[in-house]
Amino acid sequence: VKSRGVLIAGNWKMNHGLVETREFFRLLRETGPSLDAIEKLRSARLRAWAFPPMTSLQVAEAEIQNLVFPFRIGAQNVHWEKSGAFTGEISGPMLTELGLGRALTGHSERRQYFGETNETVRKRTESLLKQDFQVILCVGETKAEREAGKTFAIVEEQLRVALGIVETSVSPIAEYLDGRLIIAYEPVWAIGTGLTATPAQAEEAHAMIRDFLTKRLGPAVAAKTPVLYGGSVTPENADALLACENIDGALVGGASLKAKGFISLLEAGARALG
Ligand code: PEP
Repeated sequence: VKSRGVLIAGNWKMNHGLVETREFFRLLRETGPSLDAIEKLRSARLRAWAFPPMTSLQVAEAEIQNLVFPFRIGAQNVHWEKSGAFTGEISGPMLTELGLGRALTGHSERRQYFGETNETVRKRTESLLKQDFQVILCVGETKAEREAGKTFAIVEEQLRVALGIVETSVSPIAEYLDGRLIIAYEPVWAIGTGLTATPAQAEEAHAMIRDFLTKRLGPAVAAKTPVLYGGSVTPENADALLACENIDGALVGGASLKAKGFISLLEAGARALG
């Protein structure tokens, strides 16, 4: 049983401007997932989210109103301050104005190419959670870190700093999470490479993360915190990954760009719910 349901989240990265975003939702509307998936989406046991680039957020938010099942939109990167001299950034209140209440933090591409650190990930995560956002916090080790046997140490450090945990304490933000924090375990070597983690590798990391959350958020808050897997998830490998006990969904890049692929992923999510 998946007590936290299944969440399928599409990270579009720097893809899909206005025209392609409209086309994605037209095809999603016209084709649609199976009736079983629609029923599970309506009961919120299955959730469908997408993270388009900034300039497509408003049109995506308008498009989802025409779907016959719930679908939510979020932003890929949000600053921790509400306004100010931060060229190139956008804020939580700007998204709230668009009707959006979701965001990614800590994606490995932000860490790798844009100087994001565990500390800036903490600032973004904490600020968004305080502004009532639902946040998908991404963590994961590089190939070299895995080969050096450091996977758990790296992921624990990313989670500890991002959640403001000092030493062995419980996270100071645990009290107001209320199911709004979601963790995505995304091994860097698996993102966009076609080298998906095996279900056993993913499950091992997810079990470690769940154990960490139980200790550092407390059992009640941890029980409401889904842990998604990300890294070359496709309609072909989704069933085996989603069947794992501690995998509560998927954060998907490439395979989420086409409506057909997204639909197949939603149907895999529905199957995992049984
Ligand atoms: C991602 O961007 O979060 C991701 C997992 O990408 P991909 O599915 O393309 O590996």
